[in-house]
Amino acid sequence: MENENLNLHYNDKSSSQHNYGKYIDSWFIISVIVTVILIIILAWSLISSYNTVRSFEERELVLERYSSDLMLAITHLETSARLAASTGNLTWQDNYQQHKDNLMKTLDNIKNLLATPDFTEEANIITDNLNTVQEIEAEAFALISEGRREEAAELLRGWNYVNNQRELETTLESLTANIQEQIQGEVIAARNQTGILLAIVFAAFIILIISWTVSLQNIKDNYNKRREKEKEITYLSYHDSLTELYNRRYFMKVGEKIIKELTPQRENLTLMMIDIDHFKKVNDTYGHAGGDVVLQKLAVLLKNNIRNSDIPARLGGEEFGVLLPGASLESAREISERLRKSIEDNPTEFEGQKISITISIGLAEYQKDIPGIDELLQNADEALYQAKESGRNCIICCQNLAT
Ligand code: GH3
Ligand code: MG
Ligand code: MG
Repeated sequence: MENENLNLHYNDKSSSQHNYGKYIDSWFIISVIVTVILIIILAWSLISSYNTVRSFEERELVLERYSSDLMLAITHLETSARLAASTGNLTWQDNYQQHKDNLMKTLDNIKNLLATPDFTEEANIITDNLNTVQEIEAEAFALISEGRREEAAELLRGWNYVNNQRELETTLESLTANIQEQIQGEVIAARNQTGILLAIVFAAFIILIISWTVSLQNIKDNYNKRREKEKEITYLSYHDSLTELYNRRYFMKVGEKIIKELTPQRENLTLMMIDIDHFKKVNDTYGHAGGDVVLQKLAVLLKNNIRNSDIPARLGGEEFGVLLPGASLESAREISERLRKSIEDNPTEFEGQKISITISIGLAEYQKDIPGIDELLQNADEALYQAKESGRNCIICCQNLAT
């Protein structure tokens, strides 16, 4: 008799519920916490490295702009000075002064942007060059104001001026190139750092996935073990361990349930009670072990002679009961006779000997005036008593229909 049958007749709701919650262990909780922390770290590090790269790129752009501003200002200065020298028009000096102011401002901006001493040194060289160039240009403007244009033009064509201008341009170009190189290096380093971080987080995720899998497997295993245990407990609480038939508890519960569900269309229910005749003698002759084997054999023969929908149980000792739903008293008597004969004809083999037994059967059919299973069982018990009284190895129906 399997649990399928048990559920068919009597539903134990608690055993069919799926609740994994109570099987969650500390390992699972740690996995969840670590996963959440890891996701936060990953999000934070991605945002911060994105910001770092952005700020480097912005610095690079600003520097490019300052450096082209500087180049332009130097060219303007030179052009203003040369035009003043060739035209003798001193209004170019105002224009010169304006460009000079711009140049100084841009130079300060570049110095502020560069924190490293390397570049500060280079910026100082530019300032020196610029000072020399501007001194020559100031001298040229002084000569122009004195009407000595030719001398001024000569000064601006001179080796010192041209050389300083060239040196200024070269230093500026190399400074810009060096700074760009450094910024790009920093951008690459920041990107590499992000890459390493991503690799670490990825590896941690793999470990976490493994730990989640193990954890979930544990929960599932625990759940299945528990279910198996529960099934076993349920089985034991409704079965007799010697014969594996249902026990009295289950028999009574199902009997009560069937009686409640009986309808006028389907109201037949017959209860069969079986008792082994002179079983004490069996025990006395073959020992308790011999008696047990007889009980087991009887259970097998009993199951073989009833339908799947019938409910056989060991009610206690060598007393058995069968609920026969849908069976009239007449058909129950036929089944009983078949069983009685089968037991008579099939002695139990025990330690090379054959133990022959007979049984007495009492039958009771459910009637509308019977309140419940207890009373139905009582009627069958009375019929069984009468069978014993009538000489045993026979079947008696509750209405005293002897066979
Ligand atoms: P009767 O024909 O009047 O029924 O006679 P009986 O000897 O069968 O009498 P009774 O029904 O009173 O005896 C039941 C015996 O069954 C008594 C007890 O020792 C034995 N018995 C009860 N349970 C077990 C069991 O689990 N195994 C074995 N081997 N014997 C049991
Ligand atoms: Mg008895
Ligand atoms: Mg007996």
